[in-house]
Amino acid sequence: KLPVIVLVGRPNVGKSTLFNRLTGTRDALVADLPGLTRDRQYGSGVHENRAFVVVDTGGLMPESADPLAALAEEQARMALEEADHVLFLVDVRQGRVPADEAIAKHLRKLGKPLTLVVNKSEGRPRAEASADFFALGLGEPLTISAEQGQGVHQLLTAVLEVL
Ligand code: GDP
Ligand code: MG
Repeated sequence: KLPVIVLVGRPNVGKSTLFNRLTGTRDALVADLPGLTRDRQYGSGVHENRAFVVVDTGGLMPESADPLAALAEEQARMALEEADHVLFLVDVRQGRVPADEAIAKHLRKLGKPLTLVVNKSEGRPRAEASADFFALGLGEPLTISAEQGQGVHQLLTAVLEVL
């Protein structure tokens, strides 16, 4: 069975951008509109001769009253159940926000292998980009730019090494 990598994080952190980069497609919708990906989206990728499945989600939106957001939330929870490894994306440009804390709490309870990924880090020193997110209590974050590709190769190497 191919390892399943699931992307989670609040809307607009860059999950779909990373999905497209990992799968080499433009399948996932990327937009400035938060919450655009309502369903789970499956793709596959290959890294150094190893194939993997990647799942994009509509994101986890704790305490949202919007029924469509609730649906995306349900989809994300279902995706998490099938995850062999979870990539939890956060946005360095927004910094650590309460929704990140809520998702971190949920993921700690879930107890799946997880990597904290600080996205939109282009043009920022690595230490500066990750400092704010240590407080999430999920270990050392990896910094990437899903849009420009920096750090994505290292991220895949690190994830596939432990899968
Ligand atoms: P999602 O809601 O988590 O799936 O986020 P999207 O992939 O749709 O991206 C949300 C917005 O962030 C879009 O405008 C993307 O172009 C932008 N974005 C994604 N990755 C990066 C990045 O690495 N750097 C910057 N500066 N913007 C990014
Ligand atoms: Mg999306």
